Amino acid sequence: MEQYMGTIASVVQGDVIVCGGGCAGVIAAIASARNGAKTILIEKSFTVGGTATNGLVGPFMTCFSPDGKEQIVKGIFDEMIWRMEKMGGAVHPSKTGMVSGYGCYIKLRHNNVTPFHPEALKMVMLEMLEEEKVTLWLGTSILDVQKEGGNIKRVIGFDGHSLRAFEGNIFIDATGDAFVSEKAQVPCDLADIQDGLQPMTLFFWIDHADDEKIEEYLEKDETKRYLPYHDRIEAARAEGKFPINRNKIGLYHMVNPGEWRLNTTRMQGYDPTSAEDLSRAYCEGMKQIRFLMDFFKTLPGLENARIVQSGLQVGVRESKRIRGEYILTEQDLIDNTSFPDTIALCSYPVDLHPAKGAATGTSRQKEKTDVAEVYEIPYRILLPLGVNNLLTAGRCVSATHEALGAIRIMPAVFAMAQAAGTAAAMSLKSETGPKELDVSKLQDTLLEQGQCLRLHRD
Ligand SMILES: Cc1cc2nc3c(=O)[nH]c(=O)nc-3n(C[C@H](O)[C@H](O)[C@H](O)COP(=O)(O)OP(=O)(O)OC[C@H]3O[C@@H](n4cnc5c(N)ncnc54)[C@H](O)[C@@H]3O)c2cc1C
Repeated sequence: MEQYMGTIASVVQGDVIVCGGGCAGVIAAIASARNGAKTILIEKSFTVGGTATNGLVGPFMTCFSPDGKEQIVKGIFDEMIWRMEKMGGAVHPSKTGMVSGYGCYIKLRHNNVTPFHPEALKMVMLEMLEEEKVTLWLGTSILDVQKEGGNIKRVIGFDGHSLRAFEGNIFIDATGDAFVSEKAQVPCDLADIQDGLQPMTLFFWIDHADDEKIEEYLEKDETKRYLPYHDRIEAARAEGKFPINRNKIGLYHMVNPGEWRLNTTRMQGYDPTSAEDLSRAYCEGMKQIRFLMDFFKTLPGLENARIVQSGLQVGVRESKRIRGEYILTEQDLIDNTSFPDTIALCSYPVDLHPAKGAATGTSRQKEKTDVAEVYEIPYRILLPLGVNNLLTAGRCVSATHEALGAIRIMPAVFAMAQAAGTAAAMSLKSETGPKELDVSKLQDTLLEQGQCLRLHRD
């Protein structure tokens, strides 16, 4: 702490320090506290949920097997959805079916998605964090990480007024960008920004859409359903009147009639770890939204749509990934590799939006690299190399660019985070580091606490 001597306003002590309060951080903190650890959650914005709330991203993508028969992500994820549904802020995925406006009418593994209202998500997340007595430090940016030997001793945060030191026994990196891991000298990877990294999207939300007219228009043929309004976009592009590198209007029905969220802007070639680039991407996204709102006046069902809100931050699909005790690969998802340390299941395909051009995200499926119906996610991808008392959760886990393109969806993020938080609390109790934890005990605890680790029909 020498370099900060005299400038630290207070030292905050906890058992588990969770860094980043997106879906991963919130769920990891709830799981950690629920399993008995004094837990602190540090988040740089002034609310929780990250991409799902500030970024307006949704719905929660599928948490069922592709045939819609079995729910494969449960636990805290399911608990949150039921709480949101009770307040009118979500539709449980058991009720959203195989092909629907909730999943942009896409057939391919967009079944049983969960539409949710971002305000309901914030309220339920805050309610559950309070119930579990998690101490929240909102508006606090982590600037630095200090180690002693192979352990993190503390992270240094700035709360807008003062520097604070957060000391704990176990740390969880849920920053999405692997910020804490990288500061702790964990090797990390970032795909080529110009030629590989997935593009960013600024989401927005509209009301006053005509749901029946949209459905009627898209029902006409398969291509329209798979690529909504593709024909209109191509016609406009041919006349030089469609400036966005996207070949469809990605629209997802929300909870209330006439309300849809739009996954349609696309900003390519920006560095997710540079605030300057994020600012430029945000400005470009806002220009694209302005253009789209005009374009909608020409589209059946969207003529009278009004904008409700745009994301407070640009959505970053991919940033730095840690290298961990295992690196999950696309081949693992294709083979459904059976792991001894499985802590979550997923069924989503490799969905890589292109760094260049206008192709749609799931185009990889057409190239016949199809993943198994349901595949396993191992605990070791949460364990960064070279640091004993650190776990990760969310989109910075140890996976190749391709595998992350599948497991980045929120149900998988929730499930991995529940495992990370539970493992952190169990490591404390057993006085072992997360890497020495008896994984069979972790699996037993996850099962007892409602998580699903294998298909019941196996
Ligand atoms: C455009 C887009 C579309 C998507 N579509 C879908 C979809 O339809 N369905 C689906 O299920 N998934 C979708 N995803 C994927 C999913 O939304 C994300 O992978 C997931 O939300 C990531 O959660 P996270 O908690 O790991 O990261 P984030 O949500 O990014 O959370 C990280 C948090 O850490 C905080 N943080 C970062 N650095 C610091 C620091 N130094 N100090 C303090 N706090 C810090 C951030 O403020 C943020 O709140 C999409 C993602 C994007 C970007």
